Amino acid sequence: MFPNLFTPLTLRGCRIKNRIFSTGHDTCLPTDGTVNDALVAYHAARARGGAGLIVAQVSGVHETARYTTHILMATDDACIPGYRRLVEACHAEDCKVFVQLFHPGREIMESQDGCLPVAYAPSVSPSERFHVIPRAMPREMIADVVSGYGDAARRIAAAGADGVEIVASHGYLPAQFLNPRVNRREDNYGGTDENRLRFLREVIGDVRAKAGEDLVVGMRISGDEKDPEGLTDGESLGACVALQEGLDYLNVIAGTSASVGGAVHIVPPMIIENAYVAPFAATVRQNVSIPVFVAGRINQPQTAEQVLASGQADMCGMTRAMICDPEMPVKTESGRLDDVRACIGCNQACIGHFHLGYPISCIQHPETGRELRYGQRQPAKPKRRVLVAGGGPGGMKAAAVAAERGHEVTLYEAGPRLGGQALLAQLLPGRSEFGGIVTNLQRELELAGAGVVTGTAVDRDLIESKAPDAVIVATGGQPRWPEVEGLQDAHAVDAWQILKDQANVGGSVVVADWRGDWVGLGIAEKLARDGCHVRLAINGLMAGQQIPNYVRDSWVGILHKLGVEIVPYARLFGADRETVYCQHTASGEPLIFEGVDTLVLCQGQEPNTTLAEALSDWDGEVHLIGDCLAPRTAEEAVFEGLKAASGL
Ligand code: SF4
Repeated sequence: MFPNLFTPLTLRGCRIKNRIFSTGHDTCLPTDGTVNDALVAYHAARARGGAGLIVAQVSGVHETARYTTHILMATDDACIPGYRRLVEACHAEDCKVFVQLFHPGREIMESQDGCLPVAYAPSVSPSERFHVIPRAMPREMIADVVSGYGDAARRIAAAGADGVEIVASHGYLPAQFLNPRVNRREDNYGGTDENRLRFLREVIGDVRAKAGEDLVVGMRISGDEKDPEGLTDGESLGACVALQEGLDYLNVIAGTSASVGGAVHIVPPMIIENAYVAPFAATVRQNVSIPVFVAGRINQPQTAEQVLASGQADMCGMTRAMICDPEMPVKTESGRLDDVRACIGCNQACIGHFHLGYPISCIQHPETGRELRYGQRQPAKPKRRVLVAGGGPGGMKAAAVAAERGHEVTLYEAGPRLGGQALLAQLLPGRSEFGGIVTNLQRELELAGAGVVTGTAVDRDLIESKAPDAVIVATGGQPRWPEVEGLQDAHAVDAWQILKDQANVGGSVVVADWRGDWVGLGIAEKLARDGCHVRLAINGLMAGQQIPNYVRDSWVGILHKLGVEIVPYARLFGADRETVYCQHTASGEPLIFEGVDTLVLCQGQEPNTTLAEALSDWDGEVHLIGDCLAPRTAEEAVFEGLKAASGL
């Protein structure tokens, strides 16, 4: 089924065993700028799972390149042993390793010590997203930074890596030099096309001169940066053609760090179609004579095979596919396609963690980023009888892991189907892929051999009759209705009632969103698409405050196009038949919404504690996980399922 995906590719004598690679991505695993055990274990898991190539995350080439607090730095020979350990761990699994060479220019995201650093760029052109006004690089500094690329490449070659990748994508420093709207220099680094290419030509030359002839040298570049001031497909294509001579491959992507709309494409969420950058890769491939790599929502091996078979690219970046399932390549190659845990593009624990400064993980596979603790399943000793109450994602994960370890497990679900709140979450507009978490966990249950009983609510009698050695309670939550005045007179419904099609909604709606997550945004979109006039009152600083940035930003863009009025700082205070009363959370002044037919409550969940309370004086071992412990998200439920089942 995959004649192309598992065909080797050779670059400058470096034989990559298949066409699946992990693109350079920040992990927040490094803590002091060097490769550590956690990062080695993280990549080794993907190498063991069959990745042909791992492009390790960005490494700063100059002191002014520190754009986050977790960046790797390749500015000192002390970095070499760390890279060497990473390379050796991957080489042991026949997986090649390239390392990204990086300077962000004006795209400085974080302070190192609380003080804003001085950012350097070709010109004094502000970064809209980070509100940075950079300083124009003096010519001596340009020479210093160019030299930094070559020095870093030499160190990475000395560590035994197979290649380096110059990051000219996403509006970072090399792209800033290329871009005539950002690079407004009047010396020989600005102005003409050739002048704007000069920085990259010098970088490529210095890298090759210092790293030797054996090292693969590639370049990553965005086609359309999806920003009014960003590079266009045509401009990027021109750079690819002009620079190909000094390079061994090109790696294309979309988007820019410089604007909110452009940054969504750095890690495109599920709303964006699969393999959407492949057409640009195909154009580049037709115009250059070196291999072209591509990434961007290629989350299934079938999609990757199609991209390769149609000649659009030579390698497919499947980063999140392997964050979610490190064994995706070996499962695919051995025909176990049903066993692949497909990434659902939720962005929550991978790039979502990065934006919060936490180590990378995956909501479906919380073992990711925690390989040192959860990388190996420990066999059950002794084997025990385990009852799991509740078939949402947390309960499913707990049952699967416990059964995989060898325990005798039965999972009970009160409803007719497994999935819990994920079954509702997938009904939000643009979120149908979220339902994949249920499909994937169901397969994990099957593979592990856990017993499943649906249509049976667990109570104390059932537990006493089954007499398990341990009970995992994962009974979830239900919508929270706040105690505010007038709700009984108003036409108030909750989000679940809307998703279940159990609510009669009028033409003018206020969505009172306390949680600031997917639900409020999704309900607002759904009702606006149904033709309602929608006002979204957020008890927070912004819509979608609690969810991953790129999901939030793409969603807020959709709501803006649909004409949804968003009111932040709005605490629900009361309601009557036609009016919703809020209070500004900072000023305390009223915010009054008149002419309201329906008030929709998106107020989060309350824990379902009935079973937990019934077991409060039971002698057996009881673990509470997920929303019944404290209402949060699927990520916490699944991780708590892993933790509880790993400790049995
Ligand atoms: Fe994919 Fe979501 Fe996991 Fe990220 S957290 S790898 S987007 S499933």
